[in-house]
Amino acid sequence: MDYQQYEFTRTIRFNLSGDDKRALMLDLLDDTQEGMLAAFQETYKNLLFAFQEAILRADGSGNLRVGRLEIKKSWLRQYAREYFYALSEDERRCKNKFQAKLFDRVLSDWLERNNELLQRLNNILSLPQESKTGASDLSLLVRQLKGAEYFYFIRDFTQSGIINDKDSDEHIKNLAGIVEKFETLLDKVLFLTAPNSSQGVETTRASFNYYTVNKISKNFDENIKKANGRLCSSYQNSMNEELLRKVGFLKYLKDEYRAELQNVSLKDLYEALKKFKSQQKTAFIQAVQKNKSEKELMREFPLFNGKQPDTLQKFILETDKIKRGAYFQKWGFDNYISFCNKIFKPVAMETGTRKAKIRALEQEKIEARLLQYWAHILVKDGKYFLLLIPKEKMGEAKVFFARLSDQEGGEYTLYAFNSLTLRALKKLIRRNLGKEQVRLSAGDADAIALCQEVLRGRYHQLKDLDLSGFEKEIAEIANTQYENEEEFRIALEQVAYYLSERKMNEESIEYLKKNLGAILLEISSYDLERNITGESKEHTRLWSDFWNPNNKKECFSTRLNPELRIFYRPPREQKDPKKQKNRFSKDHLAVAFTIAQNAARKRMETSFAEEKDLVEQVKKFNEEVVGKFIDEKSDNLYYYGIDRGQQELATLCVVRFSKEHYEAMLEDNFIKKFSKPIPAQITAYRIKDEHMSYRKNITRDLKGNETEEILFKNPSHFIDEVENFEEVSTPCIDLTTAKLIKGKIILNGDIQTYLALKKANGKRQLFEKFAKIDDSAKIEFDDSEGRFQVKSKATEREEYQFLPYYGPEQENISPREDMRRELQAYLDKLRSSESFEEDISIEKINHLRDAITSNMVGIIAFLFTEYPGIINLENLHSRENIEKNWRKNNEDISRRLEWGLYKKFQKIGLVPPRLRQTVLLRENETERQEKLNQFGIIHFIPTEKTSARCPYCGENTPMKQRNEDKFKLHAYICRSNEENCGFDTREPKSPLEFIKNSDDVAAYNIAKKRL
Ligand SMILES: [Zn+2]
Repeated sequence: MDYQQYEFTRTIRFNLSGDDKRALMLDLLDDTQEGMLAAFQETYKNLLFAFQEAILRADGSGNLRVGRLEIKKSWLRQYAREYFYALSEDERRCKNKFQAKLFDRVLSDWLERNNELLQRLNNILSLPQESKTGASDLSLLVRQLKGAEYFYFIRDFTQSGIINDKDSDEHIKNLAGIVEKFETLLDKVLFLTAPNSSQGVETTRASFNYYTVNKISKNFDENIKKANGRLCSSYQNSMNEELLRKVGFLKYLKDEYRAELQNVSLKDLYEALKKFKSQQKTAFIQAVQKNKSEKELMREFPLFNGKQPDTLQKFILETDKIKRGAYFQKWGFDNYISFCNKIFKPVAMETGTRKAKIRALEQEKIEARLLQYWAHILVKDGKYFLLLIPKEKMGEAKVFFARLSDQEGGEYTLYAFNSLTLRALKKLIRRNLGKEQVRLSAGDADAIALCQEVLRGRYHQLKDLDLSGFEKEIAEIANTQYENEEEFRIALEQVAYYLSERKMNEESIEYLKKNLGAILLEISSYDLERNITGESKEHTRLWSDFWNPNNKKECFSTRLNPELRIFYRPPREQKDPKKQKNRFSKDHLAVAFTIAQNAARKRMETSFAEEKDLVEQVKKFNEEVVGKFIDEKSDNLYYYGIDRGQQELATLCVVRFSKEHYEAMLEDNFIKKFSKPIPAQITAYRIKDEHMSYRKNITRDLKGNETEEILFKNPSHFIDEVENFEEVSTPCIDLTTAKLIKGKIILNGDIQTYLALKKANGKRQLFEKFAKIDDSAKIEFDDSEGRFQVKSKATEREEYQFLPYYGPEQENISPREDMRRELQAYLDKLRSSESFEEDISIEKINHLRDAITSNMVGIIAFLFTEYPGIINLENLHSRENIEKNWRKNNEDISRRLEWGLYKKFQKIGLVPPRLRQTVLLRENETERQEKLNQFGIIHFIPTEKTSARCPYCGENTPMKQRNEDKFKLHAYICRSNEENCGFDTREPKSPLEFIKNSDDVAAYNIAKKRL
């Protein structure tokens, strides 16, 4: 059956090459290095100053204190973890915003840290320019600065909605502006000083759609001006003037803002209400503390009149802070409460709405500024080229293209795109049709009718609407009845995609280049960097799917979206001559396209959906698609349990459940019944230990040149030599080093990558923890824990800094001592003052983690064809888990695995499409306390007791006992309490013979949590 009813999109990347690429890099290279560094230094200084001004205002005694600020939970969870999780669970659950003063340590520590770094920067920049140490120190500093501890902390802090200042948000706005400016400079300096760490930046965007590019930025300025105007115009709704007069606000407004209520701008009104409210409250509380009489208070502070005659008296005598607060918030001071709820709140909301509109326009403007080119695809001799016409010349180019006649012939085929989506159509209507557009929100029937009138050409204001290539089909759609908007959208979008072809010759290309500044680049397969995850092939396949003639016949069920983005990565200097030729030694230009599959079918509008809608959409998908899938498989539905851990990165168990039961006998002849599991009979192979380093020569090319291959490094060359492998049949697999090679699961098929990840992780940890490591300490190995460690400085709380675990599997390939020596050498290099080259970037670590994840996903997808089913994962995003695992482990792949599985099963339509990663990673509990724990066939189950529960009888073994058994015996034994059944994985009893160790237990328990 076809599960692919929903549209979904993917990004594919390719290389761009050709002489013209210089033109796209000019923008990046035009600043002089010296000028850029000066601007960078200056902006950093300004940023720290603005931070201090916005966040830590000096109080009378000269100490720093946090102003009247609130911070949103989402930021605190990430950047103020230890302090945030020290709060009570209730508090964390109920509130969304927290007073910043609870976190003043975090904020002042950040400032201190950055002031030190700025000082270091000043010192480096004062060295003579040709200084080598200066250059390498600067590179190190910039890399540090780009990390979470420094830059991301402040960048995320100033994202809209994270902080709120009850007094005024002027300082915060100022800070946010500087942060934005600083980011651009930081990226540029990172390019110049540390190209090895830089992923590249987006330099420009282009679109196949003429009208998208044609929107000139002047429109944005005008619209932003208009939106600003609305913020500066008056508040239209009526207010309780009587109250405002009584509490003294009208007088305050006149004194402070020289304005009357009727003509004050909304912006000023909001500020005035906010300031008035806070000043009055502060002054009132001070007056109470100064023991002013009730009479005086009543005269001076009408805003705080009492509900009953003795309210004020009671308030004065009340000493409990919380009970006092209730007078303001709930019941005591009538005027104050009406002032807050009926006047301030609506004004604040209106201000928020108008401000959000401005922000959205500003964002659109930035994006439009990036959009510099009108794009086409050219094909010649099976090669693809990207043709970019600069925005200013696109009018001329359009005329030129129109004149090309097919008779001319030519070696190039020019492909031009035209498409129309319902969203774009509605946008056009909103921009151009004035009052008529209200019909768009007057229900489906009205909206469809209006759109159809537009498509019939009734509105001359919409002359920009280009239907060329699909006029005939559109005419039909404009005259058909539709049940609802979704049906109309699908009909419209099915036909409104067109690819026109024209022939062009070399001469015409030359003309475009010379006279219109056109840029021509060859599109080729993305570089080796991506090969590691096998995505390169995938990208090429999707690309050919699009160009396949059948695609056109099927109304383009695979579509290239009009917008494309271009990235630049600078060359990396290589000291090592062997590495001169590798992929980083040249600069690199890449293009990213978005491709839609199942285009113009059902769609989940997830990117803009409210949480509530999203939950509904996902639930509907689960019922419709997965419901059908489960029905269809009925008794043959398998359950996959995936247990993710620290040492064994993931263990898999695949079973289905029979209708029969087995009985477990507990104490006093109490009997529990369980469904009988039927394990999948997975055939897997293991390279025999003694054959690991087996070598042979492989003929490399036609001339008969040979290379030596080693079995464990490249098992695919040896796969047919059965004597090297032992075969096993099992439903439980440790996925850590397993890899699918030519249709066979090899359990230790990719030890290389795992070992490389261990090494990289060890080095990265040394790099990150360097400041905490004792100056003369040597790397040690702790036998009882099975991991590397190194002594901390005397000032540190913990005696040791911990490095990666190292187990027998790894020792088989590379002795522990070799690993220790390599880490030691790295530490020595970090300590030496000579320039430091070998940086283990998070990017590199991520590539390795991607490779391992991709192995795992490959195996699961392979098994799925034979054992279709539901994939159960523990929900590692619940609150308690985030708390437990707040120390990040670089080897951890758990989140990548979820996302990898999601992307894989999206292709066969068994998970809801178009979700963002953050949706899967949410705490899986929505604001309305609804659990969102199923995404199609991917099912998140509670983590509770998965590893301590007995798979046989369901009783728990105490965690302490379980851990002892796990680490000493690598076994699970059901024991310690009377009711335990004694199940032992070293001698497992029927029907659980297939459970051989403690990891299998957890994976089986996870699989057992059926939908
Ligand atoms: Zn038991």
